[in-house]
Formats: sequence, structure tokens, C-alpha cells
Amino acid sequence: MTARILDGLKIRDEIFAELKVEVSRLAKLGVRPGLAAVLVGENPASQLYVKSKVAACEQLGMASWLHEPPASVSTDYMLQLVDDLNKDDNVDGILVQLPLPTQIDSKRVLEAVSPAKDVDGFHPVSMGMLVSNRPGLVACTPAGCMEILRRNSISVEGANAVVLGRSDIVGKPMAFLLLHANATVTICHSKSRELSEMIRRADILVAAIGKAGFVQADWIRPGAAVIDVGTNKVTETAEAARLLANFPQRMEKFRAKGAVLIGDVHPDAVNSAGALTPVPGGVGPMTITMLMSNTVKAARLRRLGGNTSSGSKSQPASTVR
Ligand code: NAP
Repeated sequence: MTARILDGLKIRDEIFAELKVEVSRLAKLGVRPGLAAVLVGENPASQLYVKSKVAACEQLGMASWLHEPPASVSTDYMLQLVDDLNKDDNVDGILVQLPLPTQIDSKRVLEAVSPAKDVDGFHPVSMGMLVSNRPGLVACTPAGCMEILRRNSISVEGANAVVLGRSDIVGKPMAFLLLHANATVTICHSKSRELSEMIRRADILVAAIGKAGFVQADWIRPGAAVIDVGTNKVTETAEAARLLANFPQRMEKFRAKGAVLIGDVHPDAVNSAGALTPVPGGVGPMTITMLMSNTVKAARLRRLGGNTSSGSKSQPASTVR
């Protein structure tokens, strides 16, 4: 059996099209959703992420501001900047790009972001709203995983769902989203025993551990839906050859580029799963997509109390919770 490929790029395009409609509807009500991004220092990977987030805002007709303090700034400087952004009525979403330099107290900075503008969904208040199943801003990657399931009509209710990984930004929020969608959820982590047995019981597996090809193809229940959050850059030839033994074309590409992106699930799982997110092109594009969606949602909730009086039947992704 070859798995149905759950195409994140296609879903991103669908959601972007819906968000464009929503942004122009909000414009008619005098609201232009806006995202303020804070990028401290010159980490090249962070620069790339923030650049693509700002570009996505432009693509959707949203406002964006980029604040780039030098790597030497203090916690107090960051707290003042966040406070200014909290008070700025044009700013609907505040994104503090992580990691921050070590002299900055990241937790204090993230907790200073107003929960109403917490478009990353990392604030303890946002997390509490999620746990208690109240409407709020949900962490982008897990929210994106739910969109992948929903838009591919993968039934969650009553399903056995296994979430591999328990981080605050992926595993935990993912588990609560699945639970609220009426799945029976098992959360596994590095101390879990008999992982392969637990994973074999999953109708839905979400893997988020950061270990290339860790989940073996024969751990996956035939027909299961697999959401692979892992994005691991493999650069060693022996490791790439082991993971891509059955994918000569991908191995060729690895040889040409010297690197390949591999998920937390072994690529051979494409022959055992019923449906599978590819890496790259599965969960990856959903994270920025849901950041945009959260920013629009934050604008609507904060400035219009959630009401756009549009009468539209087609609800954008940002209204899911
Ligand atoms: P993280 O904070 O490092 O958490 C990893 C989790 O995996 C921890 O809960 C850890 O368990 C668990 N774990 C590690 N090794 C394990 C093992 N051998 N068996 C079972 N569990 C194990 O990672 P994260 O931020 O959640 O990210 C996870 C992966 O998703 C990474 O590859 C990351 O790059 C990727 N990611 C992708 C996107 C995207 O947009 N596609 C977004 C976010 C993250 P303990 O708690 O016991 O240590």
C-alpha cells in the first residue's frame, strides 16, 4: 500500500485564499490586521524565518513591522519593546523570534506579550485557554496539524491518537487539540516504554521529537494517518543512505546538495501508512500559514469582538477554535 500524501502546500494555498477574502472583508470594516516581528541579532536561520513571515503578511495584504534590535540588548529593553507593541493599537500579533540571545530572559519576554496578541500561542494564558477548551490563540504548528487532518477528512473522533513528543510548542498543545476533537490520546516521550507497541495502536500518529527517521515503518499500523512534524537536516552520507535506501532519486539529490530534510518518521512509512505528510512540504508550510491565520483571528477578536457580520458560510481556518 502506498500512503495518500497529505499535501501541506495545497492546504496552505487554500487557507491563504480564504484569509485574503477575510482580510479584504476586514478592510471594509476599517481593520487591517498587522503583525509585529521582533528579530534579535543576526541568526541566519531566524532571519530567513522572519523574512518569510513578513513576506506572507505582504502577500495577504496585512500590515507588518520588523524590529531588529542588536544581539547585545537586555531583558529590560525587550520588555519595553514588547510593552510598546502591546499598547500599539495597529499591532494585532506580536512575534518574538526564538531563540533569543542567552542574556535575555526568554520566558519573561514571552510572558510579557499580551495574550490578546500572542499569535504564537506560547503564553501560559493561551495554553490555559487551550487546556480548558476555550476560544483562544493556539500554537501554530499543532493548529496546522489539525487543519491537515480536517481538510483531508481524516476522522479524529474516537480515534486512537498517539503524540510522540511533549514539548510546550508542539506535543502538548497537539495532544489537547486531539483530545478536544474527541480522540483517545496517548502522549509518549523519551522515558516512555514500549514505544513501538504504543505506536502500533495509533489510528493517528503525530511525531514531533526531532530524530531523523526514528519511527520505523513497521511500527505503523497499516492504514494509519501519520503527521510527521520533524524537520531534521541530515548531512552524513551513511545516515542518508540508510534512510533513503528505497528512494534512489532522493539519494541522488542528497549527493548533489550534501543535505536532505528527513522527518521523525522513516521514509519507508510511505508503504505502510494510509496517509502521510511528506517532509518537506507537509507540516512545514502550515506553521507560517497558521501564524497568519492567528493574526487575522487576533485582529477580529480584539478589534471587533470576533464579529465581522459577513454572513459568509466559508469559515477561514482562523475560526476553527
Ligand atoms: P523538543 O522541544 O526538542 O521536544 C522533543 C520531544 O521529543 C520531547 O518531549 C522529548 O521527550 C521527545 N523525545 C526526544 N527523543 C525521544 C525518543 N527517542 N523517544 C521518544 N520521545 C523522544 O522539540 P519540538 O520543538 O517539539 O520539535 C520536535 C520536532 O519538530 C523537531 O524536529 C522540530 O524541528 C520540528 N518542528 C517542526 C516545525 C514545523 O514547522 N514543521 C515546527 C516546530 C517543530 P522528553 O520530554 O522526555 O525530553
